[in-house]
Amino acid sequence: MDPQHHHHHQLHVVFLPFMAQGHMIPITDMARLFARRGVKSTIITTPLNAPLFSGKIRRDAQSGLPIETHIIEFPCAEAGLPEGCENVNAIKSPELMIPFFKSMAVFQRPVEDLLRNWRPDCIVADVVFTWATETAGRLCIPRLFFNGTGAFAVSLLHALKFHEPYKEVESDSEPFLLPGLPHEIQLTKLQLPPFLKGDESDSGIKELREKMEESEVNSFGAVVNSFHELEPGYAEYYRKVMGRKAWLIGPLSLGNKDGTKEKAERGNVASAAGIDEHDHLRWLDGMEPNSVLYICFGSISNMSNAQLCEIAGALDSSEQRFIWVVKKGELLPEGFEERMNGKGIVIKGWAPQVLILDHTAIGGFMTHCGWNSTLEAVAAGVPMVTWPLQAEQFLNEKLVTDVLKIGVGVGAQEWSRGERKIVVGREDIERAMTRVMVGQEAKELRGRARKLQKMAVMANEEGGSSNSDLKSLLEELTSLLD
Ligand code: UDP
Repeated sequence: MDPQHHHHHQLHVVFLPFMAQGHMIPITDMARLFARRGVKSTIITTPLNAPLFSGKIRRDAQSGLPIETHIIEFPCAEAGLPEGCENVNAIKSPELMIPFFKSMAVFQRPVEDLLRNWRPDCIVADVVFTWATETAGRLCIPRLFFNGTGAFAVSLLHALKFHEPYKEVESDSEPFLLPGLPHEIQLTKLQLPPFLKGDESDSGIKELREKMEESEVNSFGAVVNSFHELEPGYAEYYRKVMGRKAWLIGPLSLGNKDGTKEKAERGNVASAAGIDEHDHLRWLDGMEPNSVLYICFGSISNMSNAQLCEIAGALDSSEQRFIWVVKKGELLPEGFEERMNGKGIVIKGWAPQVLILDHTAIGGFMTHCGWNSTLEAVAAGVPMVTWPLQAEQFLNEKLVTDVLKIGVGVGAQEWSRGERKIVVGREDIERAMTRVMVGQEAKELRGRARKLQKMAVMANEEGGSSNSDLKSLLEELTSLLD
């Protein structure tokens, strides 16, 4: 083929996000980023998730380039799932999680048919689509791998599996050091995902994880929502020690700065909950810079009643101004909201998180350390009160508190699924909150957070690391057209 032809061939990339807010949001941002570079971007999703991508968010905020969505049916019943179970948020009992992961197999046939028709140049598929590398291989296109987390957690999981340092300790709560990494990271067995230690009751999960790993190892490479300067040693580990191709092209939330209103709208649609972004943001407008703590534990995790009570108690007894996002169905203590009267706001349902974090009045973020939330805080220059609950959140916490030193933990000890057993007391919550919000330590945490924010912005400017990684990825995809 002559170069002239290349010049005119528009790359077509298909995106297949896992059906969870924490995956669909960054993948939408990624699709928009690609579209802005002239790539035709198509997202595949299911009927109930489609509203998340529809309407204005299909239009790129800066250039007006559309991204397309394509809907395929998800046969819940066939997969042994309740009707309407098309998103992690719809799963009410933890036993259904593994069946949900496994059910991703039903997408193979319809997606393969679509790809045969469309003949795209690449597919970006989430970690749960274990068949995607094989399918892409049959169609002779590269499969890019996305797992929603940063290089730090990936490296830690790899080092944990490789060195198995948790086998050396006597008890679950005895700390051990994780060797082979740029920093010495200390963890306990209680903070590790059960599958690592092999004490998962359902053996099916082991098989599933092996499939995921195999499909990752054989994929063309990984696109990572992160930026080099945030975790240089771990980006290196991913590439050199693990031997993977990895492109760090984030923070993806930054790419859509002037799309933030649409973002709020997207959240609104996704939760079908009424947010009044103007009220919340107007309230923030009246507050001093760095004076308000934003509290939100992501889109999936629920807090027990006892735990909600302790958070409320901490807020009650402190002077701290706050915005607290609680899930629909989470109950606050009697009279709490009335008592707060101007000191704080409770949002029930879905909050416009990126808009809130970007507001100058926000001085801290109490977070479960989901990777998107963590990176959004970094991109906004906001220090964190860390409160990991499950998955790789305890690992992300270490990056925030021990490596970057832009956060303070509440002292969460234990990985949990569903209802939390261990309750963090109000004194511990208040102590961590105060350390992040006021005084000399807070100033230092904030100073470091602001520096990282600047680096995140620079990474996305011409010549910056994320900008260059994206450029070389697209060049590599184009070169495959030969
Ligand atoms: N989010 C939001 N409003 C909410 C709760 C969550 O906009 O009320 C967004 C948040 O900004 C992030 C995503 O949902 O982009 C949550 O992803 P994360 O990885 O932090 O946590 P998960 O929900 O996967 O546990």
